[in-house]
Amino acid sequence: MNNPRFFLGIGLAFVIIFAGVSVYTHYAGSGPAPVPADHDTLYQVSTIDALMLGVYDGITPIRDLKSRGDFGIGTFDALDGEMIVLDGIVYQVKADGRILSVPDNLTTPFATVTHFEADRNITTKAPMNLSVFTTSMEEQLPTGNMIYAVRMHGTFPFMKVRSVPAQQEPYQVLSEAVKNQSVYTFSGTTGTVVGFYTPIFFKGVNVPGFHLHYLSDDRTTGGHILDFTLPAGTLVEYDITPGFTMALPTSGDFTGADLSQDLSSDLAKIEK
Ligand code: ZN
Repeated sequence: MNNPRFFLGIGLAFVIIFAGVSVYTHYAGSGPAPVPADHDTLYQVSTIDALMLGVYDGITPIRDLKSRGDFGIGTFDALDGEMIVLDGIVYQVKADGRILSVPDNLTTPFATVTHFEADRNITTKAPMNLSVFTTSMEEQLPTGNMIYAVRMHGTFPFMKVRSVPAQQEPYQVLSEAVKNQSVYTFSGTTGTVVGFYTPIFFKGVNVPGFHLHYLSDDRTTGGHILDFTLPAGTLVEYDITPGFTMALPTSGDFTGADLSQDLSSDLAKIEK
């Protein structure tokens, strides 16, 4: 290995790597942002409007999803329950309330994950419901034009979650499917809220604003959050996520879905 060209190559590689790291760490917020590292990327499977229109066939195995993030939310093939990804483990909240740890070969038709690393905290000063939480956080976040992963842990005086039962083909649209949803309320449950904030311009792609799921510490309760009471003094952690990667279905119902419609008022009814 006494080849001078080899050492020149190694040297150049170091310079390039060092330059990249230097640009990234010294980025101060002016000028174009550097290409984000993979752990600051939101990875999304399909679109919320496709799910709204009944595109429930799973396309991405959980195995692949886990390689894209250790934190996130979504649903499963045939709309079989609510997904929570926390600390790299994928949980399925079934409509009957059971919580399962998911096999890697199960698939998802819609999910969003990232590698969570908190880089901003906001502590709540008063108890608040989901609506007040949304307004309060939107006032305190640096901008509504970025994606944030959101995590908080606490004991919640009130927690109202839902899960949906698996659907049979031919699939009905989501607004029909959720008519059979199970709603559970809990008081004094301790656990983690997992979710995302996406900007208004994600309309049709994701759920603009906050989309939050819940998983209790004892892994016995959870689901898609319809409302909660957040106690004062709760540390709300945010991971600013500038990158975005989306995997779209290449076959099946997705290719024939009419995604030209504005489904946001239907979505608001379903999500809250
Ligand atoms: Zn949800």
